[in-house]
Amino acid sequence: MSKNKVTIIGAGMVGSTSAFGLIAADITEEIALIDLNKKMLESQVMDLQHSVPFWGYTEVKAGDYNDIKDSNLVIITCGASQKVGETRLDLLKKNASIIKEIMPKIFNKNPEVVVLIVTNPVDILVNIACKMFPRKKNQIFGSGTILDTARLRLILGEKMSVDPKSVHAYIVGEHGDSELALWSTAMIGNTPINRFAKISAKGKRQVFNQAKNAAYAIIEGKQATYYAIAAGVVQLSKAVLFDKKTVFTASHPLNGEFGLKGVSLSLPVVIGKKGILRKINLDISTEEKKLLHQSAEKLKSAENGLN
Ligand code: NAD
Repeated sequence: MSKNKVTIIGAGMVGSTSAFGLIAADITEEIALIDLNKKMLESQVMDLQHSVPFWGYTEVKAGDYNDIKDSNLVIITCGASQKVGETRLDLLKKNASIIKEIMPKIFNKNPEVVVLIVTNPVDILVNIACKMFPRKKNQIFGSGTILDTARLRLILGEKMSVDPKSVHAYIVGEHGDSELALWSTAMIGNTPINRFAKISAKGKRQVFNQAKNAAYAIIEGKQATYYAIAAGVVQLSKAVLFDKKTVFTASHPLNGEFGLKGVSLSLPVVIGKKGILRKINLDISTEEKKLLHQSAEKLKSAENGLN
């Protein structure tokens, strides 16, 4: 592979903002965008190209599946998005059929490429993609709860007057209504959160609910969320393109963790050049295990409902 190249399938709000973030970060030599809506695609590409002279040089183009041949990373952001009053699971039928259609096209062009799924409901789409290509399951992962985790770290950091980067707390499970915060492993620096500052059970619930319901609040006001997820996509891309071995709560198929199998959801994993490099063992509470199982059951039954 001679250069760092990313193909983004879906040039709507999330896809185009992710491209903008990648250009601003100056970490790829080429970005190809693909979309069914050709006129919109051409306009997005032109607008993005005109930002290039203000950052470092990145070649940006309206592409097609042939661009995947020499790409290191494909980012899937195409499909239906949440409308006011809809949950992420409401998008399932439409977006599952898109994933089933595009995954073979991606790997036919480049069997080695790493695939990042952002389209919702991201966990079920990751599970479907990994079932289609079980031998490539480390190459396929979803953005999962990276954004929920970022929101939790921001809210907690502001509450405790510390930089969110020093807040080591995860939201795991479904990227959606059944997700959970892992309070038992939450740290500020390397100090357990309860020792760093007093935070009541009610305070934790409030912080968590604010993080969990943020997407609904944003969609109510501006119909979509894209800046923050795009920032997360840039960090995930950096981890893949430069083999950074960064820990993210990315969505991936479970293989017996906490007794769970046959379902994909977010738990912390190390991400690098080849996708998911390793999983991280967590010591979580009995209550958190119960909630994780409930989240997995919900995802399984939604996926089973598809058939
Ligand atoms: P959008 O409607 O702005 O863009 C979607 C684009 O996909 C459209 O331009 C459409 O033409 C294109 N498209 C549809 N089917 C296609 C296909 N088969 N091939 C190529 N292009 C196709 O939507 P958006 O706001 O960009 O959201 C995209 C997805 O990302 C949604 O599913 C949304 O729920 C999800 N999302 C995920 C997160 C997360 O944290 N995982 C955050 C925000 C949005």
